Amino acid sequence: MKTHAIIPIFIPHKGCPNDCIFCNQKKITARQAAITVEDVKNTIETWLSTLEPRGVETIEVAFFGGSFTGIPMEEQSAYLKIAKSYKDAGRIHKIHMSTRPDYISKEILDNLKAYDVDTIELGVQSLDDEVLTRAGRGHDAAVVYESSQLIKDYGFELGIQLMIGLPGDTLEKCIYSAHETIRIGPTIARLYPTIVINDTELYNQYKRGEYEPLTQDEAIRRTKEMYKILDDAGINIIRVGLKSTDFINDGEDGEINGGTYHPAFRQLVEGEIARERIEEKLSATDFDPSRKTKVDFFANRRSMSTLIGHKQKNKRYFLEKYPHLDVLYKVNDSLLNNQYEIEIKE
Ligand code: SF4
Repeated sequence: MKTHAIIPIFIPHKGCPNDCIFCNQKKITARQAAITVEDVKNTIETWLSTLEPRGVETIEVAFFGGSFTGIPMEEQSAYLKIAKSYKDAGRIHKIHMSTRPDYISKEILDNLKAYDVDTIELGVQSLDDEVLTRAGRGHDAAVVYESSQLIKDYGFELGIQLMIGLPGDTLEKCIYSAHETIRIGPTIARLYPTIVINDTELYNQYKRGEYEPLTQDEAIRRTKEMYKILDDAGINIIRVGLKSTDFINDGEDGEINGGTYHPAFRQLVEGEIARERIEEKLSATDFDPSRKTKVDFFANRRSMSTLIGHKQKNKRYFLEKYPHLDVLYKVNDSLLNNQYEIEIKE
Protein backbone atom coordinates (compact mmCIF):
# COMPACT_ATOMS: atom_id res chain seq x y z
CA MET A 1 0.00 0.00 0.00
CA LYS A 2 1.32 3.42 -0.89
CA THR A 3 1.64 5.49 2.24
CA HIS A 4 2.46 8.92 0.88
CA ALA A 5 1.09 10.96 -2.01
CA ILE A 6 1.41 14.50 -3.29
CA ILE A 7 -1.43 16.40 -4.91
CA PRO A 8 0.47 18.78 -7.24
CA ILE A 9 -1.09 22.14 -8.02
CA PHE A 10 0.76 24.28 -10.52
CA ILE A 11 0.36 27.99 -9.82
CA PRO A 12 2.05 29.93 -12.65
CA HIS A 13 3.66 33.20 -11.73
CA LYS A 14 1.94 35.71 -13.95
CA GLY A 15 3.98 38.87 -14.35
CA CYS A 16 7.12 37.34 -12.89
CA PRO A 17 9.73 40.13 -13.08
CA ASN A 18 12.67 37.74 -13.32
CA ASP A 19 14.47 36.39 -16.36
CA CYS A 20 15.85 32.99 -15.44
CA ILE A 21 17.41 31.75 -18.66
CA PHE A 22 16.02 28.21 -18.38
CA CYS A 23 12.39 29.25 -17.83
CA ASN A 24 9.61 29.52 -20.43
CA GLN A 25 6.88 30.26 -17.93
CA LYS A 26 6.23 33.82 -19.06
CA LYS A 27 5.43 32.78 -22.59
CA ILE A 28 3.14 30.03 -21.38
CA THR A 29 1.35 32.00 -18.66
CA ALA A 30 0.65 34.80 -21.12
CA ARG A 31 -1.65 32.36 -22.94
CA GLN A 32 -3.09 30.50 -19.97
CA ALA A 33 -6.16 31.31 -17.95
CA ALA A 34 -5.42 32.02 -14.29
CA ILE A 35 -5.89 29.18 -11.81
CA THR A 36 -8.98 29.93 -9.77
CA VAL A 37 -9.72 28.90 -6.22
CA GLU A 38 -12.40 26.65 -7.69
CA ASP A 39 -9.75 24.96 -9.88
CA VAL A 40 -7.67 24.24 -6.78
CA LYS A 41 -10.67 22.73 -5.01
CA ASN A 42 -11.57 20.60 -8.03
CA THR A 43 -7.98 19.34 -8.37
CA ILE A 44 -7.86 18.32 -4.71
CA GLU A 45 -11.25 16.61 -4.91
CA THR A 46 -10.27 14.70 -8.06
CA TRP A 47 -7.09 13.39 -6.47
CA LEU A 48 -8.80 12.56 -3.17
CA SER A 49 -11.43 10.51 -4.99
CA THR A 50 -8.70 8.00 -5.85
CA LEU A 51 -6.32 8.47 -2.89
CA GLU A 52 -8.90 8.18 -0.09
CA PRO A 53 -10.29 4.76 -1.11
CA ARG A 54 -6.69 3.49 -1.24
CA GLY A 55 -6.10 4.49 2.38
CA VAL A 56 -2.99 6.59 1.64
CA GLU A 57 -1.58 7.57 5.03
CA THR A 58 -0.01 10.95 4.27
CA ILE A 59 -1.42 13.23 1.61
CA GLU A 60 0.26 16.54 0.84
CA VAL A 61 -1.13 19.38 -1.21
CA ALA A 62 1.85 20.95 -2.98
CA PHE A 63 1.79 24.32 -4.73
CA PHE A 64 4.46 24.20 -7.41
CA GLY A 65 5.40 26.71 -10.06
CA GLY A 66 8.62 28.04 -8.65
CA SER A 67 7.61 31.28 -6.97
CA PHE A 68 4.42 30.84 -4.98
CA THR A 69 5.30 33.61 -2.52
CA GLY A 70 5.96 36.01 -5.41
CA ILE A 71 2.26 36.19 -6.30
CA PRO A 72 0.12 38.80 -4.51
CA MET A 73 -0.48 38.02 -0.85
CA GLU A 74 -4.29 37.90 -1.24
CA GLU A 75 -3.93 35.27 -3.97
CA GLN A 76 -1.54 33.20 -1.86
CA SER A 77 -4.03 33.39 1.00
CA ALA A 78 -6.97 32.41 -1.18
CA TYR A 79 -5.19 29.25 -2.39
CA LEU A 80 -3.85 28.41 1.05
CA LYS A 81 -7.26 28.84 2.65
CA ILE A 82 -8.61 26.02 0.50
CA ALA A 83 -5.67 23.73 1.36
CA LYS A 84 -6.00 24.55 5.07
CA SER A 85 -9.71 23.70 5.05
CA TYR A 86 -8.83 20.20 3.77
CA LYS A 87 -6.08 19.89 6.37
CA ASP A 88 -8.41 21.02 9.17
CA ALA A 89 -10.94 18.43 8.01
CA GLY A 90 -8.23 15.73 8.20
CA ARG A 91 -8.55 14.89 4.50
CA ILE A 92 -4.99 16.02 3.71
CA HIS A 93 -2.10 16.07 6.15
CA LYS A 94 0.50 18.52 4.90
CA ILE A 95 0.76 21.71 2.86
CA HIS A 96 3.85 22.11 0.74
CA MET A 97 5.00 24.88 -1.59
CA SER A 98 8.01 25.94 -3.62
CA THR A 99 9.35 29.43 -4.12
CA ARG A 100 12.42 31.56 -4.81
CA PRO A 101 14.98 32.30 -2.08
CA ASP A 102 14.48 36.06 -2.47
CA TYR A 103 10.70 35.82 -2.00
CA ILE A 104 11.02 35.02 1.68
CA SER A 105 10.40 37.60 4.40
CA LYS A 106 8.96 37.61 7.90
CA GLU A 107 5.67 38.96 6.55
CA ILE A 108 5.47 36.13 4.00
CA LEU A 109 6.39 33.45 6.53
CA ASP A 110 3.88 34.82 9.08
CA ASN A 111 1.19 34.38 6.45
CA LEU A 112 2.32 30.83 5.57
CA LYS A 113 2.33 29.95 9.29
CA ALA A 114 -1.20 31.31 9.65
CA TYR A 115 -2.33 28.85 6.97
CA ASP A 116 -0.48 25.96 8.59
CA VAL A 117 2.02 25.36 5.77
CA ASP A 118 4.47 22.56 6.61
CA THR A 119 7.16 22.55 3.94
CA ILE A 120 8.87 25.29 1.94
CA GLU A 121 11.12 24.29 -0.94
CA LEU A 122 13.53 26.84 -2.34
CA GLY A 123 14.58 26.77 -5.99
CA VAL A 124 18.24 27.40 -5.21
CA GLN A 125 19.77 25.91 -8.39
CA SER A 126 23.38 26.62 -7.35
CA LEU A 127 25.34 28.15 -4.49
CA ASP A 128 27.95 29.54 -6.86
CA ASP A 129 27.46 33.25 -7.55
CA GLU A 130 28.79 33.11 -11.11
CA VAL A 131 26.34 30.33 -12.02
CA LEU A 132 23.46 32.27 -10.44
CA THR A 133 24.41 35.45 -12.33
CA ARG A 134 24.73 33.69 -15.67
CA ALA A 135 21.39 31.95 -15.07
CA GLY A 136 19.77 35.37 -14.65
CA ARG A 137 18.39 34.45 -11.26
CA GLY A 138 18.52 38.00 -9.97
CA HIS A 139 19.94 37.15 -6.54
CA ASP A 140 23.16 35.82 -5.10
CA ALA A 141 23.96 32.87 -2.86
CA ALA A 142 23.92 35.02 0.31
CA VAL A 143 20.12 35.32 0.00
CA VAL A 144 19.81 31.54 0.07
CA TYR A 145 21.60 31.26 3.42
CA GLU A 146 19.51 34.08 4.95
CA SER A 147 16.11 32.85 3.78
CA SER A 148 16.90 29.22 4.62
CA GLN A 149 17.80 30.21 8.17
CA LEU A 150 14.61 32.22 8.51
CA ILE A 151 12.50 29.31 7.23
CA LYS A 152 14.12 26.96 9.74
CA ASP A 153 13.77 29.50 12.57
CA TYR A 154 10.03 29.61 11.88
CA GLY A 155 9.91 25.82 12.21
CA PHE A 156 9.04 24.97 8.60
CA GLU A 157 10.49 21.91 6.94
CA LEU A 158 13.05 23.16 4.39
CA GLY A 159 13.65 21.72 0.94
CA ILE A 160 16.41 22.72 -1.50
CA GLN A 161 16.28 22.25 -5.26
CA LEU A 162 19.54 22.22 -7.19
CA MET A 163 20.05 22.37 -10.95
CA ILE A 164 23.03 20.69 -12.56
CA GLY A 165 24.82 21.94 -15.67
CA LEU A 166 23.73 25.57 -16.00
CA PRO A 167 26.15 27.87 -17.91
CA GLY A 168 29.41 28.20 -15.98
CA ASP A 169 28.67 25.16 -13.82
CA THR A 170 31.36 22.50 -13.32
CA LEU A 171 31.67 19.24 -11.42
CA GLU A 172 33.60 21.10 -8.70
CA LYS A 173 30.84 23.73 -8.39
CA CYS A 174 28.22 20.98 -8.18
CA ILE A 175 30.15 19.32 -5.37
CA TYR A 176 30.54 22.71 -3.66
CA SER A 177 26.78 23.33 -3.91
CA ALA A 178 26.08 19.92 -2.40
CA HIS A 179 28.45 20.55 0.54
CA GLU A 180 26.98 24.00 1.10
CA THR A 181 23.50 22.49 1.04
CA ILE A 182 24.52 20.25 3.92
CA ARG A 183 25.69 23.34 5.81
CA ILE A 184 22.29 24.96 5.21
CA GLY A 185 20.64 21.83 6.57
CA PRO A 186 17.41 21.08 4.65
CA THR A 187 15.53 17.85 5.33
CA ILE A 188 14.63 17.29 1.66
CA ALA A 189 16.34 17.97 -1.67
CA ARG A 190 15.71 17.62 -5.40
CA LEU A 191 18.38 17.31 -8.07
CA TYR A 192 17.58 18.37 -11.61
CA PRO A 193 19.91 18.25 -14.60
CA THR A 194 19.42 21.39 -16.68
CA ILE A 195 17.04 20.88 -19.56
CA VAL A 196 16.97 23.17 -22.59
CA ILE A 197 13.38 23.86 -23.53
CA ASN A 198 12.19 26.01 -26.42
CA ASP A 199 11.30 29.64 -25.87
CA THR A 200 14.00 30.27 -23.31
CA GLU A 201 17.16 32.35 -23.29
CA LEU A 202 19.08 29.12 -22.66
CA TYR A 203 17.66 27.76 -25.91
CA ASN A 204 18.90 30.90 -27.74
CA GLN A 205 22.36 30.42 -26.24
CA TYR A 206 22.28 26.76 -27.27
CA LYS A 207 21.24 27.69 -30.81
CA ARG A 208 24.04 30.30 -31.04
CA GLY A 209 26.54 27.68 -29.87
CA GLU A 210 27.23 29.56 -26.62
CA TYR A 211 25.85 26.85 -24.38
CA GLU A 212 26.38 23.14 -24.67
CA PRO A 213 24.08 20.90 -22.64
CA LEU A 214 25.74 18.22 -20.56
CA THR A 215 25.97 14.82 -22.15
CA GLN A 216 23.84 12.23 -20.41
CA ASP A 217 26.95 10.55 -18.97
CA GLU A 218 28.24 13.82 -17.55
CA ALA A 219 24.81 14.71 -16.13
CA ILE A 220 24.72 11.32 -14.40
CA ARG A 221 28.30 11.70 -13.14
CA ARG A 222 27.70 15.13 -11.57
CA THR A 223 24.31 14.20 -10.15
CA LYS A 224 25.77 11.01 -8.70
CA GLU A 225 28.49 12.90 -6.82
CA MET A 226 25.93 15.34 -5.40
CA TYR A 227 23.53 12.53 -4.54
CA LYS A 228 26.20 10.68 -2.53
CA ILE A 229 27.10 13.81 -0.53
CA LEU A 230 23.47 14.65 0.30
CA ASP A 231 22.44 11.06 0.94
CA ASP A 232 25.40 10.41 3.26
CA ALA A 233 24.34 13.50 5.25
CA GLY A 234 20.87 12.01 5.75
CA ILE A 235 19.03 14.45 3.45
CA ASN A 236 15.98 12.85 1.88
CA ILE A 237 16.41 13.21 -1.91
CA ILE A 238 12.80 13.22 -3.01
CA ARG A 239 13.43 13.67 -6.72
CA VAL A 240 16.26 13.11 -9.17
CA GLY A 241 15.55 14.41 -12.67
CA LEU A 242 12.30 15.80 -14.01
CA LYS A 243 9.21 13.80 -14.89
CA SER A 244 7.79 14.57 -18.32
CA THR A 245 4.72 16.01 -16.58
CA ASP A 246 6.95 18.52 -14.75
CA PHE A 247 7.62 20.50 -17.87
CA ILE A 248 5.82 23.74 -18.30
CA ASN A 249 4.47 22.17 -21.38
CA ASP A 250 2.31 23.65 -24.05
CA GLY A 251 2.52 21.46 -27.09
CA GLU A 252 5.65 22.17 -29.07
CA ASP A 253 6.80 24.92 -26.72
CA GLY A 254 7.73 22.31 -24.17
CA GLU A 255 10.06 20.58 -26.60
CA ILE A 256 13.36 19.63 -25.03
CA ASN A 257 16.77 19.81 -26.61
CA GLY A 258 20.02 18.04 -25.86
CA GLY A 259 20.32 14.70 -24.15
CA THR A 260 19.99 15.33 -20.43
CA TYR A 261 16.34 14.33 -20.10
CA HIS A 262 15.72 10.67 -19.35
CA PRO A 263 12.47 9.30 -17.89
CA ALA A 264 14.42 6.95 -15.61
CA PHE A 265 17.16 9.41 -14.66
CA ARG A 266 17.02 8.55 -10.97
CA GLN A 267 17.50 4.87 -11.71
CA LEU A 268 20.48 5.70 -13.93
CA VAL A 269 22.11 7.71 -11.12
CA GLU A 270 21.35 5.20 -8.38
CA GLY A 271 22.44 2.36 -10.67
CA GLU A 272 25.87 3.99 -11.09
CA ILE A 273 26.16 4.35 -7.32
CA ALA A 274 25.24 0.66 -6.89
CA ARG A 275 27.90 -0.38 -9.40
CA GLU A 276 30.52 1.77 -7.67
CA ARG A 277 29.65 0.34 -4.26
CA ILE A 278 29.82 -3.26 -5.49
CA GLU A 279 33.17 -2.61 -7.17
CA GLU A 280 34.56 -1.07 -3.98
CA LYS A 281 33.50 -4.20 -2.08
CA LEU A 282 34.98 -6.49 -4.74
CA SER A 283 38.30 -4.68 -4.66
CA ALA A 284 38.39 -4.94 -0.86
CA THR A 285 38.47 -8.76 -1.18
CA ASP A 286 41.38 -10.84 -2.48
CA PHE A 287 39.41 -12.38 -5.34
CA ASP A 288 41.42 -13.02 -8.49
CA PRO A 289 39.54 -11.79 -11.64
CA SER A 290 41.48 -14.27 -13.81
CA ARG A 291 40.05 -17.29 -11.92
CA LYS A 292 36.52 -18.62 -11.93
CA THR A 293 34.81 -17.27 -8.80
CA LYS A 294 31.26 -17.52 -7.50
CA VAL A 295 29.86 -14.47 -5.77
CA ASP A 296 26.48 -13.35 -4.41
CA PHE A 297 25.38 -9.71 -4.72
CA PHE A 298 22.74 -8.63 -2.18
CA ALA A 299 20.21 -5.80 -2.18
CA ASN A 300 16.82 -5.37 -0.60
CA ARG A 301 13.72 -6.01 -2.71
CA ARG A 302 13.32 -2.32 -3.56
CA SER A 303 16.94 -1.73 -4.61
CA MET A 304 17.39 -4.97 -6.55
CA SER A 305 16.36 -3.44 -9.90
CA THR A 306 18.73 -0.54 -9.21
CA LEU A 307 21.56 -3.00 -8.58
CA ILE A 308 20.83 -4.83 -11.82
CA GLY A 309 20.64 -1.45 -13.53
CA HIS A 310 18.39 0.24 -16.06
CA LYS A 311 17.97 -2.23 -18.95
CA GLN A 312 20.36 -4.54 -17.03
CA LYS A 313 23.23 -2.09 -17.51
CA ASN A 314 25.10 -3.18 -14.36
CA LYS A 315 24.53 -6.86 -14.98
CA ARG A 316 26.06 -6.50 -18.44
CA TYR A 317 28.89 -4.37 -17.04
CA PHE A 318 29.93 -7.03 -14.52
CA LEU A 319 29.63 -9.81 -17.13
CA GLU A 320 31.90 -7.95 -19.54
CA LYS A 321 34.43 -6.65 -17.02
CA TYR A 322 34.70 -9.87 -14.98
CA PRO A 323 33.95 -12.76 -17.39
CA HIS A 324 35.13 -15.31 -14.79
CA LEU A 325 32.80 -14.01 -12.10
CA ASP A 326 29.69 -16.15 -11.62
CA VAL A 327 27.20 -13.75 -9.99
CA LEU A 328 23.93 -14.58 -8.25
CA TYR A 329 21.67 -11.63 -7.39
CA LYS A 330 19.95 -12.26 -4.06
CA VAL A 331 17.36 -10.33 -2.03
CA ASN A 332 18.26 -9.46 1.55
CA ASP A 333 15.56 -7.30 3.10
CA SER A 334 17.65 -6.49 6.14
CA LEU A 335 19.64 -4.11 3.92
CA LEU A 336 18.59 -0.47 3.59
CA ASN A 337 17.68 1.11 0.27
CA ASN A 338 20.80 1.65 -1.85
CA GLN A 339 22.85 -0.55 0.48
CA TYR A 340 24.62 -3.49 -1.15
CA GLU A 341 26.65 -6.44 0.08
CA ILE A 342 28.68 -9.17 -1.59
CA GLU A 343 29.75 -12.64 -0.52
CA ILE A 344 32.52 -14.50 -2.31
CA LYS A 345 31.53 -18.18 -2.36
CA GLU A 346 34.60 -19.93 -3.76
S1 SF4 B 1 11.98 30.32 -12.94
FE1 SF4 B 1 12.60 32.50 -12.80
S2 SF4 B 1 11.67 33.52 -14.59
FE2 SF4 B 1 10.64 31.52 -14.33
S3 SF4 B 1 8.81 32.01 -13.12
FE3 SF4 B 1 10.43 31.36 -11.68
S4 SF4 B 1 11.42 33.25 -11.05
FE4 SF4 B 1 10.21 33.74 -12.89
